[in-house]
Amino acid sequence: MEELLKKLEEYNPEEIERVKKAYEFASSLHEGQFRASGEPYITHPVCVASILADMHADGNTIIAGLLHDVLEDTNTTKEDIAHYFNETVASLVDGVTKFDKKDIPSREDRNVANTRKLITGMTDDVRIIIIKLADRLHNMRTLSFKPLEKQKENALETMELFVPLAYHIGAYRIKSELEDLSLYYLDNSGYKSLEEQMLKLKPENDAILEEMLGTIKRIIEDKNIPHEIKMRTKNIYGIYKRLKEGHKLSDIHDLLALKVIVDEVSNCYLTLGLIHGKYHPVNNRFKDYICNPKTNNYQSLHTTLFTPQGRLVQTQIRAFDMDKTASFGVAAFWDTEKGNAFNVMKDDMDNSQVKPFIKNALNSSDDEFLGQIKDEVLSEKVYVYTREGRVVELPIGSTVIDLAFTLGDEIGNTMVDVIVNNRHVQVDYVLQKNDHVEIITDPLSFGSRAEWIPKAHTSYAKARIIEFNRRRA
Ligand code: MN
Repeated sequence: MEELLKKLEEYNPEEIERVKKAYEFASSLHEGQFRASGEPYITHPVCVASILADMHADGNTIIAGLLHDVLEDTNTTKEDIAHYFNETVASLVDGVTKFDKKDIPSREDRNVANTRKLITGMTDDVRIIIIKLADRLHNMRTLSFKPLEKQKENALETMELFVPLAYHIGAYRIKSELEDLSLYYLDNSGYKSLEEQMLKLKPENDAILEEMLGTIKRIIEDKNIPHEIKMRTKNIYGIYKRLKEGHKLSDIHDLLALKVIVDEVSNCYLTLGLIHGKYHPVNNRFKDYICNPKTNNYQSLHTTLFTPQGRLVQTQIRAFDMDKTASFGVAAFWDTEKGNAFNVMKDDMDNSQVKPFIKNALNSSDDEFLGQIKDEVLSEKVYVYTREGRVVELPIGSTVIDLAFTLGDEIGNTMVDVIVNNRHVQVDYVLQKNDHVEIITDPLSFGSRAEWIPKAHTSYAKARIIEFNRRRA
């Protein structure tokens, strides 16, 4: 608790009294309860609040973090919380509270209802997701105290649900820690042997990075660009995944990486030029996520460089505010937008390209819901470019039909021809990474046809076609 108060002192001292009150409230309610580790239960909500304070969360969110388990594990009600604190805290705590056996006896139904509630949180108030992630992170950090079976179960759920959620909101720091913790329990020997291997390579790798860091630092300092340079190590899971895909350790282009953080956008490009003047870049490895941000708002320049020893080093160049977003995603708005953070977070989630898929899944029956969430919302995505160069993110396996309806009903319903990478293709062409797609429309077209339904991958596109045909009939 001391630590949490110290963090608050630094960025939000006005909230200290309210947070102390929440601590008193929660610790008296959890009195006599213990964690699997044997520690008093209250240590868990305090750690969760502390993770949230690292993201500079607002007062209501910190308080909700302290109270996040009281509805589930004590006799308190939502009304009590609203009375002692406020409506916002009450609805945040309610949002992170799972249904229990009393509410929904069937395990399967309960699972669907809980996932539905979680996904609803993404659109209602993303702070619910951030609290959930902090909760999961602390539970995963302390998972060793749980029975073996529970460890596997939680690790799997973390990998399938919470890792994609963290990615979706751009919280990379939490995402990579959750991945490593999950892998540790899912493939313990695989994790340990890779960790050991990386430890052995560390002195050599660090030497390469340090040398490059020193050189880059000198050339940037010569131009008086305010900067900070850090060495970045790819997380164990990231390496594990590449090896599983059949790559060799030496082929992983971002195994060794540097982060160069500068004061402003124009200096990102100037720095890129300076670095390319010193080290040869791998031509097809350059990415401009500043002009084309990822849909989770990640912005950075990526370039992979050859070292004089012939090794590859990925260099990420970005501005300070972009770096905050790269670590915390939407949670970075707490810091950059202060009092207005909640509104900006809401706008941001509302404009997400995944939003139509989320809404569609939430409207579907319980039988279809989990499958849709897995395949369309939390699945890996393929990125394609429109004719104007806009980047669109779609679930892997999507066809041109899915893209057309993601761009809007007016495009889907007037599509008559498609050109991908300068070649005519059919509307059921399965989109590939970096495809350049031009959809030709004709306002006099017949509109979308029933034959397209099985050719669409996403239930969102299918639903839009069904809707069109229903209205026409
Ligand atoms: Mn908890």
